[in-house]
Amino acid sequence: MPFETVLIVDDDPLIHAVCKAFFQRRGALQVLGAMNGAEGLTALEETPQIDLIVCDLKMPDVDGVQFLRLLMERRYSQPIIIISGEDGSVVQAAYNLAKSHNLCILGRVRKPLDYAALEEALAEPVVAPQRSGTRKTTAVSEADLRSAMQLGEISAYMQPKIECATGRVVGAEALARWFHPECGLVMPDSFIPVAEKAGLIPDLTHYILRDAMATKQRCAERGHNLKIAVNTDALTINQLDFPEAIYALTQAAGVPNEDVVLEVTERSLLQDGAASMEVMARLRMMRFEISIDDFGTGNSNMKQLCTFPFTELKIDRGFLEGVTNDSAKAICLNAIVSLAKSLQLTTVAEGIESEHDLALVQQAGVTYAQGYHIAKPMAPNDLVDWLEARRPQIRRKNLA
Ligand code: C2E
Ligand code: MG
Ligand code: MG
Repeated sequence: MPFETVLIVDDDPLIHAVCKAFFQRRGALQVLGAMNGAEGLTALEETPQIDLIVCDLKMPDVDGVQFLRLLMERRYSQPIIIISGEDGSVVQAAYNLAKSHNLCILGRVRKPLDYAALEEALAEPVVAPQRSGTRKTTAVSEADLRSAMQLGEISAYMQPKIECATGRVVGAEALARWFHPECGLVMPDSFIPVAEKAGLIPDLTHYILRDAMATKQRCAERGHNLKIAVNTDALTINQLDFPEAIYALTQAAGVPNEDVVLEVTERSLLQDGAASMEVMARLRMMRFEISIDDFGTGNSNMKQLCTFPFTELKIDRGFLEGVTNDSAKAICLNAIVSLAKSLQLTTVAEGIESEHDLALVQQAGVTYAQGYHIAKPMAPNDLVDWLEARRPQIRRKNLA
């Protein structure tokens, strides 16, 4: 990609010389220089269009880390490359900061700077800024939600999970979707917090479980035996009669308990340790599976992992994002997998968005994978079709 106007922000004149020669060779018409963040801002204000900023971190006056924040405040949306002689973890922190500022960060290069390293940074995929508010949330009331459940406006969409080693579909997670007559599709972000506040999650869990079990049975009729996972929360997992209630549901549907996975977030378990412990121990004795969802995002997840009888660990998507260029994340991912193995837990990597993500978790030894690259959450009827369409594909792969 040719960058016509490039701004170099660095306090070292040698870096200016190297960058100027490099970008001019690559077709830049103008290579501007600034010796610190303050000068960088001036250049930005005086120049109508800057296509790329190459920015050092350690500079006098306004340093690179502050400069990144100022770029965010000015809504600068073109690519940025960080160059620095600082410690790897400092450079990584600045890179993470730029991403959290929603800046379009192209890469980071360690000093001493050479052309090959710059070429490599330019070849990295652009992490495009995600403008906040792209995911629409809808204001809903508790009364609306209650009536939606009564009217059957909520449905359990299903997102398949595959076994990493074979590609075989092993299960599906039920994710609630609300088809509101006026607002259209309402996502969980909009109504789960309302349900939590109103104490409606136990009802929702039962509702979604019933729906998901009906889908499971429809899949079973076509020869697809799937485990189904449903999400639940603190209030539900603290209700001492919860095990009996869901046992009654699985019995009525004719579904073996071991085919049902209850996904619990760490946040859910903080409320009443003793009640959660009793409920979870009894659920396990009934042979339900219990998964710790979004693992790695809470404050005390290690303690919970040691305390509660989980059978599965779901690795939060955050550990996959940018893992290729983030050695600390890669180390954490491998450590989580190894920890889970030692505790005899199966692992699920969620948020698999590319073939590359899938290869990465396969390599790390993760048991199951779930994400848009495999399939998006889909309507119950579509799941059967999806399974049918996938069957010959898998058979071919396994024969090859
Ligand atoms: P979760 O249980 O961690 O579910 C995974 C979320 O990630 C889902 O969002 C799913 O659509 C999304 N996802 C799946 N694959 C990918 C991917 O490759 N990339 C990205 N970026 N996202 C992916 P969703 O459906 O919006 O649900 C959000 C959260 O709402 C869920 O997180 C869960 O905590 C909660 N939730 C959903 N349905 C229910 C429910 O029936 N009951 C309860 N209590 N909570 C629910
Ligand atoms: Mg979940
Ligand atoms: Mg999750």
